[in-house]
Amino acid sequence: MQGMLKGFLDLLYPTRCRVCGVFSKSVLCPDCLDSFSFIRPPTCKRCGKPCNIEVDDCKECRNRFKFSTARSLGLYEGNLKTAIHKFKYKNARGLAAIFADMMTGLVSDFDDVELITYVPLSRKKELKRGFNQAHLLAQEIAERTNLICDATLMRVAEEVDQTKLSLKQRKKNVRGAFVVDEKKDVSGKSLLLIDDVFTTGSTVDECSKILLKAGARNLSILTIARVCSF
Ligand SMILES: [Zn+2]
Ligand SMILES: [Zn+2]
Repeated sequence: MQGMLKGFLDLLYPTRCRVCGVFSKSVLCPDCLDSFSFIRPPTCKRCGKPCNIEVDDCKECRNRFKFSTARSLGLYEGNLKTAIHKFKYKNARGLAAIFADMMTGLVSDFDDVELITYVPLSRKKELKRGFNQAHLLAQEIAERTNLICDATLMRVAEEVDQTKLSLKQRKKNVRGAFVVDEKKDVSGKSLLLIDDVFTTGSTVDECSKILLKAGARNLSILTIARVCSF
């Protein structure tokens, strides 16, 4: 009987929520999903930062970024932060599809997207982790939007851990960290660049800068979450 009951429960709740551990139908339970701080209007139309009123560009991003628009699903805090940590560091790859389902809804915020690309990891980091979380997300979003996902960038410099650096240090740290893959033609294309977290924007902006320099027409940024304190 016990075996039958277990089999029945397994059928109902075949997995565990990767965030809180409860038995769940999905790798993310409804309670954890509901607890995410989703970003809702009003926001800065350019960088996607929550604002008191909708603005074309906020004072933090005015004249600062090379990309044209950035959007994120939610704030990098609470259970969303935990979910991203599990995804990246605890190999919870099943979360990629759930994040991508929600992120795909934001793609219509961008004027035109012709190609989806992503922020690369260094070879060392990707080998250690076994995957690049931004690449996984980009592939999942491409499948849902019928767009092509392609690598356009390579990470050349092995940087120090960004998380402990100031804004100024972060900018300096990512400068020269990426090159455009010579085999890829980005000229005249409008690109959507995917990353996991928008912290100060230094990383995605550096990527945008070199892709625009290589001839890309437009850069839009989409991340799972963003930090809101800069
Ligand atoms: Zn949960
Ligand atoms: Zn802004």
